[in-house]
Amino acid sequence: MNCPLCGNQFREEEGEAACQGCPMLKGCHLVKCPNCGYEVPREPGLLKNLRDWWRQRNGPGRKG
Ligand SMILES: [Zn+2]
Repeated sequence: MNCPLCGNQFREEEGEAACQGCPMLKGCHLVKCPNCGYEVPREPGLLKNLRDWWRQRNGPGRKG
């Protein structure tokens, strides 16, 4: 994912690691940018699944 603030690209796991001190670690729906510390709302799983489904359906190199 991309940080909307600084544009740094990082993985959700990295963002979670940066949020280790958070008291609501398990319920936290924010991912912290390891570069600037900005907390980014995690991409909803539903949206992600939808996008994966869409990619599979259309294939990587197909048009239309
Ligand atoms: Zn950032």
